[in-house]
Amino acid sequence: MGAGEERVGAMRDDADRRLGRRALLAGGAAAAVGTAVLARQELSRLWWRLPGVERPRVAGAVDFRGARWVAASAANYRRADRPDDYPVDRVVIHVTQGGYASAVKVFQDPSHEVAAHYIVRRDGRVTQLVRELDVAYHAGNRSYNERSVGIEHEGFVEDASSFTDAMYAASARLTAAICARYGMPVDREHVIGHVEVPGTDHTDPGPHWDWDRYVGLARRARESREKI
Ligand SMILES: [Zn+2]
Repeated sequence: MGAGEERVGAMRDDADRRLGRRALLAGGAAAAVGTAVLARQELSRLWWRLPGVERPRVAGAVDFRGARWVAASAANYRRADRPDDYPVDRVVIHVTQGGYASAVKVFQDPSHEVAAHYIVRRDGRVTQLVRELDVAYHAGNRSYNERSVGIEHEGFVEDASSFTDAMYAASARLTAAICARYGMPVDREHVIGHVEVPGTDHTDPGPHWDWDRYVGLARRARESREKI
């Protein structure tokens, strides 16, 4: 999990912040049509007309087939339009240091300012909490948050038995799908632990996480995806 970075976004009203971005971009369009003043609604309509700025979102939609959707608090991520605004070139592996339910509760609590895109349970069940379009606050490093997809794993860094076969298999399929989506190689340069994020004091996923096994599984999952 990450610390409470990017406090600025949380302190400001989301609608106002988004209007600021809309106004900035729609300003050019307004000048082009010769209109001096536009009402707020008109600004936002122009914004939606601009191509490629933001994809339509469907409530409850997930980026990984079979994932269950549980929304994180909007204070725990920043809306974005990845990979158009921020290229995605990392998967960051985390361990929750607690149970699944308590981790989900933290991600739904606006006071924590942390959330990952996904959490994988001991039984291999995958839950998505933040769309990959958006910047989740999981890495404790702004640029790594912007460039990565974060996957939490239920369990404890110091407890090797946390990491079950079902968890490895499901998470590896998820990582394979993410790497395929953004054209990333499945390797230890692109699939990293939270411990490897610059400046972090977090140690997850820790010494019991079997990287050779995980990357091997993810590579095989990627290859079988390509054969389909
Ligand atoms: Zn972490």
